[in-house]
Amino acid sequence: MNAVVERTQAASSPPCGEAPRFTEAELLRFITTEDPEETEELFAAARAVREARYGRAVYFRGLIEFTNYCKNDCLYCGIRCSNRALRRYRLSFEEILQCCRMGRLLGFRTFVLQGGEDPYFTDERVCGIVRAIRREFPDYAITLSIGERGRESYEAFFRAGANRYLLRHETANDEHYRKLHPAGMSLAERKHCLFVLKDIGFQVGAGCMTGSPFQRPEDLLEDLLFLRELEPHMVGIGPFIPHADTPFASYPAGTVAQTLKMIALSRLLLPGALIPATTALGTIDPQGREKAFRAGANVVMPNLSPVGVRKLYSLYDNKICTGDEAAGCLLCMQDRIRGSGFEPSMIRGDFIG
Ligand code: SAH
Repeated sequence: MNAVVERTQAASSPPCGEAPRFTEAELLRFITTEDPEETEELFAAARAVREARYGRAVYFRGLIEFTNYCKNDCLYCGIRCSNRALRRYRLSFEEILQCCRMGRLLGFRTFVLQGGEDPYFTDERVCGIVRAIRREFPDYAITLSIGERGRESYEAFFRAGANRYLLRHETANDEHYRKLHPAGMSLAERKHCLFVLKDIGFQVGAGCMTGSPFQRPEDLLEDLLFLRELEPHMVGIGPFIPHADTPFASYPAGTVAQTLKMIALSRLLLPGALIPATTALGTIDPQGREKAFRAGANVVMPNLSPVGVRKLYSLYDNKICTGDEAAGCLLCMQDRIRGSGFEPSMIRGDFIG
């Protein structure tokens, strides 16, 4: 019998949706397989696990990209501080709140505030923003994604009313991490932040890029093992896409196939995870997000940022949806979800353990 079927029988029988205990060798085989039948089995198993927990719902998060200033210099990222070609912007306190109000009108119940590591946004300023959103939107989920800070900062954000935090680990192999980041940044610190965030009580999102320069299948295996160890509530996985004004401009993008397999494996290892169909996946393949739902993803994060700044939050080239109004993005995503056999859901969509 096929290994996936065999190992996921427990996983696919509702209601518990238990995770199969794959060996490292099995995981590596799934990471590298190009057999269409085996891949399809993997996706079917991931779908079954996800359905046992979450049904066919796909949850919406309103993404507000509030600053593209960044003090970091990650080699893959278009908003790295060395990129002098990029015009920088920050949304004002009032503009951020306006995005949330627009989000509420559209029916969103979760806001994600993402940005570069911008020193202008001190703990005090971030807390001020979070408190203001919390006051106006008492029962909404507030997610932050603003990089590495110390425990005290994270605790202050939590007290101010933030519930979730996204911080991809990017790659769980130390040597690989050093090839993607400047000296001074470390995987150990990144991992530490994730454990601290979890300890404080945030719903935490980790994740990685697929196909980033120098990545080996063994690195992807380490990503999965790290996810299994951390047990995050959310897992963001998207393909690396080159950005013209970075040192990795001429490296190839990650592939749809590899990304989908990593999504499916993450779903099998962490049945309750909230896994987005990422914009990066939609960028390398117009049907990428639909394919992600079929591989176990159950979240989308349409953009609520003002259209005027969308292009400036330029992590990689040719990012999609930069010209569309939020309402248009919402309708388009709802159609895509229904069209692929799933159900758009505007509830908060918290982690189901
Ligand atoms: N400063 C925040 C947010 C970073 S941007 C933080 O440190 O978490 C959000 C994510 O975009 C990153 O975690 C990274 O995985 C992804 N990203 C950055 N550059 C990319 C690229 N060139 N291709 C694909 N994804 C990229």
